[in-house]
Order: sequence, then structure tokens, then C-alpha cells
Amino acid sequence: MQYSDSFMIKPAVFQRRVFNWFDKHGRKNLPWQQQINAYRVWVSEIMLQQTQVNTVIPYFLRFIEQFPNVFALAQADINEVLELWTGLGYYARARNLHRCAQIICANYAGKFPRELDTLISLPGIGRSTAGAILAIAEGQATPILDGNVKRVLTRLHAVEGWPGDNKVQQELWRYAEYYMPETRTADYTQAMMDLGATICTRTKPNCERCPVQIYCQAYQTNQVINFPQSKPKKELPERSCQLLIITNQQRNILLEQRPPSGIWGGLWCFPQCDCAIEPVAWLKHYYGIHTQIVEKLPAFRHTFSHFHLDIYPVLMRHISCAQVKQAMETQPTIWYNVQRPQTVGLAAPIKRLLHHIKVNAEEPV
Ligand code: SF4
Repeated sequence: MQYSDSFMIKPAVFQRRVFNWFDKHGRKNLPWQQQINAYRVWVSEIMLQQTQVNTVIPYFLRFIEQFPNVFALAQADINEVLELWTGLGYYARARNLHRCAQIICANYAGKFPRELDTLISLPGIGRSTAGAILAIAEGQATPILDGNVKRVLTRLHAVEGWPGDNKVQQELWRYAEYYMPETRTADYTQAMMDLGATICTRTKPNCERCPVQIYCQAYQTNQVINFPQSKPKKELPERSCQLLIITNQQRNILLEQRPPSGIWGGLWCFPQCDCAIEPVAWLKHYYGIHTQIVEKLPAFRHTFSHFHLDIYPVLMRHISCAQVKQAMETQPTIWYNVQRPQTVGLAAPIKRLLHHIKVNAEEPV
């Protein structure tokens, strides 16, 4: 492989500095660093995508307690998996984790494939996650390129452009491959993640304590704050909806399961309609239920990675069923008991609204 960079560092020198630093300062007591196997590394890596270590730890511990191995996860009901994921966000990760566990049990006798390309072909496993699994659990020299490593390499070589861009990523992968050692692959992988997470942080990197400072082009040219370069700005589109919170006489709340793909895929949610729609007539037409509006709750905004959703919650009372209509027949629905909740996955805004209703129901009138 040819590198155009005239300021390349010898891999052995880079590795030695990184290992020395890791031996003194690296993290060695994270829960997924104990009893290491491909399953535990995989679960932790998926949880750590877009989420910080401290947030992930309690989720990881609960998840592993309930699903200690890939067979337990494969056999689980998706609702149990989504429930354990509630609050972590990016729920496609949980659905892929479940689907992937089923494939590994059905096609690979429960053993994680040891070839990079095969791992990458599984749902939810990208090149960086596959690299981490093989480097940490199998000792293979497969580099990673998560957000932390991207930041370190971008600054180290003052790589121009937004790291999410395809071309920039290719350049970063070449650096990641170049520095990857053949031995101590697990320690090196952890060290690079730690370096990004604890020293080469997004804001205020601690360059004075950085083991590769002497080679860092961004530091040496006093341009650290200019790297990595940000994504070209694009205004997020805005959408809105009404969430219809319907309570019955027993004070249970109507929830329906969303289709497996799309936002909040597979999670349970209140019936949702467009803001221009009159909800009482709409519910009668599509759900076959008579309702009345009790109160319009304050609107709030929930932001997804690709749009803002302005949510207008409407508190409604269920009066009677006329005739069960299509929406009730085709989508799984339940009357959710806020006092003794069923095991179902809920998106964060739904959980927040349910909590609000529970607290209000408990308040003395
Ligand atoms: Fe990051 Fe600073 Fe180290 Fe460069 S010197 S890699 S900017 S911490």
C-alpha cells in the first residue's frame, strides 16, 4: 500500500507508544473486558455505537444477565430485547442484534464466524464492529474505525474533509490498517478507543498527556480544533403528529406495535395520526372505537438523526367499541397497564408520556 503522506510514523514506533500509554492509563475493568468472548464483545460494540461507555455499562450488565449467550438471545422474544434496550435509542441496533443471534444459531451452530467478510455480511455488523470482535475475542489483526479512532487518526494526520464522507473514510481505513499490530490486538484496539475517549476528546483534547503528540500533525501545526472537520450543514426537516393516549375504564392505555422497520420499528406506541386530522372521527373510522378528548397535553419536540418530530399528545377517554376495524385487526394492540406494565419495548418519548400519566393518576385529586 502506498501512502502519499510524507509524515508517516513507523507502525512499530506508534504501537510502542500506544502500548506504553495503555499499560499505564488504559481501561482494563470494563464489564465486557472480563470473560471475553465474541458474544460479549459483539453486544458491547453494538451498544457503544453512538453511546458513551458510562451509559452503556448498566444496559450491558442487564442484557448479559438476561441473555448470557447467543442462544439465549436468539430464543428471546423481540419484545424482551426491545424492553432492555429502552432508553438506549437507535432501536434498529436491538432488532439487528436479535436477528443476527438467530442467524448465528441457525447457520453457524451458535459460533461467531471468524472471517471478517462473513461477519460483515450479518445484520448490524459493519467493518469496524467485525474488526473489534475479531481483534478482541480472536486475536486477529483486524483494525477498527469507530468514532474515537476516527478522531485520533484524523488529527494525527490532519485529514481534511468530514470523516463520514466515503473518500475520507477510505483514507482513515488505510491509516488504521497501517498501524494495526499483529500481536496484542485486543489491547491495541482498546487502547485506541481509550485514547480517543479519554485524551483525544472531541472538545478540549488533553494533548499534553497524549503519547503520540510528537507525531500529531494537527497538534504540531496548532490546528487541533480544526479536526475532524464537521459535516456540511443541512437543516433537518420538521414533521409533526398527534399521539392519541386513550385510556379505558380500568385506566389502561391503548398501545399498538409499530411495523418492524421505520422509526420506532417494533416498539409499542400510541395510535398516531396527522395533526390536521380530527382524532375522534379518525379513531372511529380506523379503529372502530368511540372516544372523547379529555385534554390536549403540551407539545414537545423529539429529534431523530434525520428529522425533527413535533409531538402533540392528546389525552382521550375510551367510551365503547363499535365494531373492530382494520387497524385493530392488522396491528398487534394491547391495553397497557401503567401500574403493572407488560414487557414491551417503548421509545423514549412514549415512556416519558406513560410516566407522566402514571404520576398524574397517583396524585390525589
Ligand atoms: Fe489528539 Fe492532541 Fe494527541 Fe493529536 S496530540 S492525537 S490532537 S490528543
